[in-house]
Amino acid sequence: MKIRTLIQTLFLLCSLYIGVSFAHYLHSIMTGDMNVVKPGGVEAFLPISAFMSFKYFLMTGVFDRVHPAGLSLFIIFLIISAVFKRSFCGYVCPVGFVSELISKTGAKVRLNRYAGYILSLPKYLLFIFFFAMITMMSAGAIAAFQRSQYNMVADAKMLYFFTRPTMTTAVVIGAIVLLTLVIKGFWCRFLCPYGVLQSIAGYLSPFYIKRHKEHCTNCGKCAKACPMGIEVNKKGMVLSPDCIGCHDCVRVRDNDRCLTVGRGYRPDRLAVWIVCVLSVLVIFAMVAGFWDSSIKSADYLRLLNGIDGIGH
Ligand code: SF4
Ligand code: SF4
Repeated sequence: MKIRTLIQTLFLLCSLYIGVSFAHYLHSIMTGDMNVVKPGGVEAFLPISAFMSFKYFLMTGVFDRVHPAGLSLFIIFLIISAVFKRSFCGYVCPVGFVSELISKTGAKVRLNRYAGYILSLPKYLLFIFFFAMITMMSAGAIAAFQRSQYNMVADAKMLYFFTRPTMTTAVVIGAIVLLTLVIKGFWCRFLCPYGVLQSIAGYLSPFYIKRHKEHCTNCGKCAKACPMGIEVNKKGMVLSPDCIGCHDCVRVRDNDRCLTVGRGYRPDRLAVWIVCVLSVLVIFAMVAGFWDSSIKSADYLRLLNGIDGIGH
């Protein structure tokens, strides 16, 4: 198993563990056990709330206490992508990994460049919508949202979204799975607005993929290996926002000199650095008090009991 798959598998297992722990937390408080602690990692699945809290933090210097782990992880993921070229998507995100696994089992339809541009529109429109909405919100409006009942139980709502799917949810997820079977990385390439944010951060990174034309034999292995369908064999430097810094093209390269990461960094060493930096930052957030929510289990339970009546 290559090191990237190993790291992705570990993060997927970690996400599943967090999901099960959170379900256990909800069950425990609903059956009267208030001593359990909510797993903070579940707040990683609330990126819009975290984006708002990030803006609030920049405006006021106040760190969100409702979903502090969500804000910490939002910042940590941006740092990972900014340093390691959108490697949050290439190594960490469980949704991206599942999407890759589905793609590997299905047929492959190669899209031409223009079809790719058109299909990419929804994710950019979604990103612009959220970015504009959050940019226009005042500090007061964000503070009101942070303290709203909806935001406080947004993690439980997210869990129920998947564990109690409506017909619409099931149809949409089914359609995305089918499209991912025929088009490589469909969700990440064409729909995910969070990936757009990671790719913007990734432009700060020095770890670009470079093709050295004088050493390229045009074998096409790199393009075939790319999970994002980038024609690496036709680029000089890969500047595409779709590049998730996964280094798979470099791992399968035809010779040592045709493709490099930045100034020739070894992909597997970078992979280890990504895990180390992420782990250190998460541990720092935990011990420095940027992790545990200030919402008490008794208050959480009160909201949970009326969750179906809580809307935006
Ligand atoms: S594009 Fe979205 S779903 Fe895909 S890996 Fe990145 S954040 Fe995850
Ligand atoms: S160009 Fe290389 S590093 Fe970028 S997504 Fe494709 S395989 Fe990964």
